[in-house]
Amino acid sequence: MIEVAVYDTKSYDREYLGTAAGAEQVAWRFHDFRLSAETASAAKGAQAVCVFVNDHADRACLESLAALDVKLIALRCAGHNNVDLAAARALGLAVVRVPAYSPHAVAEHTVGLLLTLNRKIHRAYNRVRELNFSLNGLVGFDIRGKTVGIIGTGKIGRITAQIFRGFEARVLTYDPFPSSDWAKTLGIEYTDMDSLLAQSDIISLHVPLMPDTLHLLNTQTIGRTKRGVFIVNTSRGKLISTTALIAALKSGHVGGVALDVYEEEEGIFFQDLSGQVLLDDELSHLLMFPNVLVTSHQAFLTHEALSEIARVTTRNILTMATGEPFLEGTTL
Ligand code: NAD
Repeated sequence: MIEVAVYDTKSYDREYLGTAAGAEQVAWRFHDFRLSAETASAAKGAQAVCVFVNDHADRACLESLAALDVKLIALRCAGHNNVDLAAARALGLAVVRVPAYSPHAVAEHTVGLLLTLNRKIHRAYNRVRELNFSLNGLVGFDIRGKTVGIIGTGKIGRITAQIFRGFEARVLTYDPFPSSDWAKTLGIEYTDMDSLLAQSDIISLHVPLMPDTLHLLNTQTIGRTKRGVFIVNTSRGKLISTTALIAALKSGHVGGVALDVYEEEEGIFFQDLSGQVLLDDELSHLLMFPNVLVTSHQAFLTHEALSEIARVTTRNILTMATGEPFLEGTTL
């Protein structure tokens, strides 16, 4: 039996990991709390830890894990900005992830958020339940003919762009590594960042969080966008300066914002805080705007994605035990 300490687990993690192929060879130790230097000791006796997007594997945490003889950090997500990879390498800890579980899940949620925000479906749902059948204040716009700017054309950005082409939108993209043949086939145009910002009616972010993408949307870059622009972020919260976003919403420059991720989501998203006082002033402020829609990092949450996350994570853990090479694309 391979012992694995699984941090920040919810009911769906337990269900899908517990029933994945090969799961009977793993002794899953599910913890509700997140991994950090303070909680690393809960991995005592485990050969691997399994973590998600808001676990915090910094150097101090990794040193504690290495001292406990943990061999593997298995991320049950694609993004890895929360793990100090250099420290892991130096300490001899292998780090694996699930590179692509369902890019469709995230792309479909992205478009779902935009449609909900634009057509005010969330507000209509509440109204009708109160027997308020009035349409006042629910006017949206057609996506057909609008310019949609997709920043980052990796796995998720490309699918999102394709879906928007299905709406007959003009799709502009920016990526330092363009997929030119793909774009040509679909009638999608690559451009530079400034042109994308200046021309897009809707901007959707699909880039990883790295030092050079931190606050990709800030006071200056938001200032270069069209007045009334809709912004969607299902990638990482820190890609947008929340302070700059709130200022642009207050001035009316930004027409709508849909977020599945938030700059300071750690410790808030994935938790049931109903009945408590929300201590994050910027999130409280964002939630008060009628033209802001927030979901709690749920874009990945489909049956297909959870199954694939559990399958690849379990396979990686079993692979560690046999010493065979990890699944292609999973090692960091
Ligand atoms: P990917 O690695 O396939 O693609 C990322 C793309 O971004 C690459 O093509 C890269 O060249 C490009 N890029 C890098 N820097 C750029 C820059 N400065 N400007 C423009 N493009 C740049 O990644 P992916 O699987 O498509 O994931 C995209 C994002 O979605 C990541 O941030 C990931 O963390 C996030 N994500 C969120 C959820 C969720 O549940 N909300 C789930 C999975 C992934």
